[in-house]
Amino acid sequence: MHVFSPHVPPAQAHFVTGAICVLCGNSLPAEHLRYSHVCPNHPRIPDEGILDIQYDYQAAAPFFPGVERDCQSLETDTWRGLWRYRALFPLAWNAPVPSLTVGLTPLYDAAKLAKAFELHQVLVKDDSRQPTASFKDRASCLAVALAVESKAPVVATASTGNAAAALAGMAAAMNVPCAIFVPESAPAAKIAQLLAFGARVFLVQGNYDQAFGLCMEACRRYGWYNRNTGYNPNMAEGKKSAAFEIAEQMNWDVPDAVFVGVGDGCIMAGLHKGFADLVRMGRTRRIPRLYGVQAEGSDFLWQAQEEKRFTPEALLAKAPIVAHTVADSIAAGLPRDRVKAMRAVRESRGCFLRVSDQAILAAIPELAQGCGVFAEPAGAASLAGLKVALEKKLIAPKERICLVATGSGLKDAIAVSHAPQRFVPIFVPPDSAAFAIIESVHTEAK
Ligand SMILES: *Cc1c(COP(=O)(O)O)cnc(C)c1O
Ligand SMILES: [Zn+2]
Repeated sequence: MHVFSPHVPPAQAHFVTGAICVLCGNSLPAEHLRYSHVCPNHPRIPDEGILDIQYDYQAAAPFFPGVERDCQSLETDTWRGLWRYRALFPLAWNAPVPSLTVGLTPLYDAAKLAKAFELHQVLVKDDSRQPTASFKDRASCLAVALAVESKAPVVATASTGNAAAALAGMAAAMNVPCAIFVPESAPAAKIAQLLAFGARVFLVQGNYDQAFGLCMEACRRYGWYNRNTGYNPNMAEGKKSAAFEIAEQMNWDVPDAVFVGVGDGCIMAGLHKGFADLVRMGRTRRIPRLYGVQAEGSDFLWQAQEEKRFTPEALLAKAPIVAHTVADSIAAGLPRDRVKAMRAVRESRGCFLRVSDQAILAAIPELAQGCGVFAEPAGAASLAGLKVALEKKLIAPKERICLVATGSGLKDAIAVSHAPQRFVPIFVPPDSAAFAIIESVHTEAK
């Protein structure tokens, strides 16, 4: 990978030109983003007018990594990890950012998986290695930097899991007070991680939607910075950095297809934005087909695809479902970024795929043994999705595919014990009689 040294543009500068509403196409000036995250044209559904941030790509290009740049090493805090791409982030050039190293996670060539599936190449983007152990750090680091830039007194989000942990960790790193709204059903281990980071955790005696509502209202009342997924348009901007990294790690090429687990759809939206940005910047020539993998019990977007609800209107008219899956990070009854996520798979000519909980659980040890990456259920869902795509003949043998491992298996280590493959330890006596058993392993290995 190239390490580059940017010619720093004037202090304060960023290359945001404005934003476009994903519902009505309304174009808003950059100033609008300073006091609102949404389009004002939708008073009946005020939080659904989600924006897509626009840049002056021509002006940003010289400050963005690329083949033609001189490759010098640059090790300052500001430029570590994904901040090398900050020319295409909605953040002032000299704004402080969290000290934790986010992004530039490994892209592994999983030759064993490629062989097993008779594919040209299988790459694994390992985001289990982020500071708080999930992909969500890509968005939360930007959220906290933007909160500090806007002098917000508190950063807040509603979430049950990784988004909250990421926000709490980044807030701790920048010494910003953090408020988290979680439904009381949230797993104890995830709440413990939030508390360890020093976040104020409000256990809402209700569901995720109600926690989301309370967080929205608290942010309105007190001027807190709102990180809520599918509302704050900057979150997809942070997440697009994964697409930049994949392309740069492939020496400015892209895979033929990318697979990722989908809950709210914000990662999918971010990947699409990132690959589209690269084409606009002339760094790459095409957008890979994007495959969104949903769990059977949390398949809102897959259902919407079957019902041909492709337009924003049709998606907004679809009622929430009741979501239930072992892959808690992709459980979403009403995917908050459904409009952008649907657009991402349609425009890239991929699709949504649906996998059972059993297939997701089976994929955890398959991925772990296939390339050494231990993912949580939502992270291994990408591999389960690849298998469905192969059955449906959506992938040709000559293609190069990329699986995004979005979260660490250590987040939910017990899940793998429910996998259909049986993993049992070998019991041995504590003395030399054990070697009658140990020897057999040695013989098998030879
Ligand atoms: C959040 C999350 C996802 C899904 O992202 P969405 O933007 O909600 O679709 C997948 N895997 C992990 C580990 C996550 O934390
Ligand atoms: Zn609008």
